Amino acid sequence: MIEFVAFWILMAGTCAVVAGSKGRSVIGWLLLGALFSAVALIVVAVMPSLKPAVDAPSVETHKKCPFCAEQVRREAIVCKHCGRDLGPHDEALRLTGSPEGVALVAAAEAGNWGSVFSLLNGGADPNALDSQGRTALDVAESRKDEQIANLLRSKGAERLPHD
Ligand SMILES: [Zn+2]
Repeated sequence: MIEFVAFWILMAGTCAVVAGSKGRSVIGWLLLGALFSAVALIVVAVMPSLKPAVDAPSVETHKKCPFCAEQVRREAIVCKHCGRDLGPHDEALRLTGSPEGVALVAAAEAGNWGSVFSLLNGGADPNALDSQGRTALDVAESRKDEQIANLLRSKGAERLPHD
């Protein structure tokens, strides 16, 4: 009889421990373990954990991809969901712009196709932002300069969803 009681307490206790490790109700599973013994233990052992995965998105670790709105890691430079380049659209660059962005947007603003062409061929990012957060494509389109807009698009420039 004492062995049975010991086994029974052990089952209930193990149930509670397993349930607790899975983020489930410890008291509830202690009672279920007391009622159903090994059956409850098997049930709780195969139940999925309620605890969030360690790398679940949070504001500290993740940002929203501006293209597909999925959560991606803050350090990410390429979106793992849509594969787009996230680097140049970083918040810091959004505010300050980059030298190549400033040059490219200025060239687009001046309607200088040749400068835009040589900047892009020199490796300038077609989606780089100037200090006002505009891309060369923004400027070209607002100037209705299809020649420069097409050149930028052919080099991979994309409209950013404005927020
Ligand atoms: Zn994405």
